[in-house]
Amino acid sequence: MPYSIAIDGPAGAGKSTIARAVAKELGYVYIDTGAMYRAVGLYVLKKKIELSDEKKIVEALPLLDISLSYDDEGVQHVLLNGEDVSSAIRTERVSEAASVVSQYKAVREKLVALQQALAKRTSVVMDGRDIASKVLPDADTKIYLTASVEERARRRARELQEKGEPCNIKAVEKDIEERDYRDMHRAQSPLVRVEDAVLVDSSDLTIDETIDRILDIAMKR
Ligand code: C5P
Repeated sequence: MPYSIAIDGPAGAGKSTIARAVAKELGYVYIDTGAMYRAVGLYVLKKKIELSDEKKIVEALPLLDISLSYDDEGVQHVLLNGEDVSSAIRTERVSEAASVVSQYKAVREKLVALQQALAKRTSVVMDGRDIASKVLPDADTKIYLTASVEERARRRARELQEKGEPCNIKAVEKDIEERDYRDMHRAQSPLVRVEDAVLVDSSDLTIDETIDRILDIAMKR
């Protein structure tokens, strides 16, 4: 039976860095579900469909093939109709688009089915917003990973600066708050901490400390 570790939490809590490292340590496959929603967001932007036009987006879904592949280092690549969009999905515009299109039921149904099929085949560490509540409700370990808004904005601003993208910390903070609000208050699978998820607050932890804490929790199950 494959094992599964579900890591949910708000934007910028460090989920992908942590989940990737935990997967590597345990020899599991890391699945970044946010990247799939970002791929849908990118498609909608490329096709110049209005983000608010749910009907058009739903109509376009059958034309959209999203798959994951892994390189020799185990790094996940996202393919959108066969094209590697792993870098193209990492912009602020695509973050925003992903957060809007992920509210639509048909978008979620398509991606959740894909995520569940992946976890059936192999042991996974999967991160997202609805992993414990919807995608893998029977996950062996459930983690709710969070950090204060200020700390998440500082981390995000650092990342943007490293990429040479100018940014204003207050604007980043505001974006994070808006995205949190949308993710936590949408009708379809809002971000929630399920009752049996262990809360890990990484505000005052280093990356290594956070990874160790999650490995400890997973081992105790
Ligand atoms: O985690 P990441 O920032 O890459 O996710 C982008 C957006 O995709 C999130 O803001 C959220 O709206 C959406 N998402 C989701 N469910 C998931 C993963 C991401 O709704 N399981």
